[in-house]
Amino acid sequence: MTVVADLHMHSTYSDGVLKPEELCRQAALKGLTHISITDHDNVEFYIKDRFTSLTQQFAIGIIPGVELSCLHKDRPMHLLGYGFSLQDKSLATVLGQQQQHRLERVRLILDKLNSLGVPLTLEELEDADGATTYGRPHVARAMMRGGYVGSVDEAFARYLGRGKPAYVPAAQLKLIDAIELVRNAGGVAALAHPGLYYGDVEQAAELLDLGLQAIEVSHPAHSRTVTRQWRQFCQQHGLVMAGGSDFHGDDKPPRSIGQHGLNGVELESLKALFNG
Ligand SMILES: [Zn+2]
Ligand SMILES: [Zn+2]
Repeated sequence: MTVVADLHMHSTYSDGVLKPEELCRQAALKGLTHISITDHDNVEFYIKDRFTSLTQQFAIGIIPGVELSCLHKDRPMHLLGYGFSLQDKSLATVLGQQQQHRLERVRLILDKLNSLGVPLTLEELEDADGATTYGRPHVARAMMRGGYVGSVDEAFARYLGRGKPAYVPAAQLKLIDAIELVRNAGGVAALAHPGLYYGDVEQAAELLDLGLQAIEVSHPAHSRTVTRQWRQFCQQHGLVMAGGSDFHGDDKPPRSIGQHGLNGVELESLKALFNG
């Protein structure tokens, strides 16, 4: 399969280490025709950055995208939204709330770390260049810079991961509400990396009446077999496919732009659902 579109990557506007321009450059070098920068709970890049001029500079289509932190039955899940209107007021409101919640969450994590003998401050996270929103990866990187842990993985394993002493749950937005929000803004709602949530694809049938339109089939967390199973699930249930590398720039094991994504036919099926 020839990947022409990588629709999942993170920039410095969330927890990626590369600026949007660099993501575009790498995508263009790989020969991709389309990308989507899907920062966590924000569309700052599309609003503040040189979105249209990057499209021209690198001759690449950039599809508006976002990765929303949601909850489904008390379980954290990520929803990808594509092709929505950037002018949508409800979306802007919810993204503002999500940002606020992310900042509160990071403050709570820092409080916990402080009481555990890791005296990290919010200012030390701000060293991370250009970020306007913080998440656990920023905390982990600051812990590494401060010499409290040897690696980002260690920070998660010892402090930040689910069930660890500095863990604070994310997101309060319900998956069903997030799906409605994206669709009402003219976009397509796609469940991100379902293999992280469901060991057996048929369990995901519980999501079918929520209004989901697509599933991220091609993703580095999915083995070949798992990818095939999700592709079949989509075909059986009339869902279109999404896919991308989920590139952050410092992923372990390393990920590269264009390694996962959609072929031309799959991209057209997804784009056919945009009405923003
Ligand atoms: Zn995700
Ligand atoms: Zn992601």
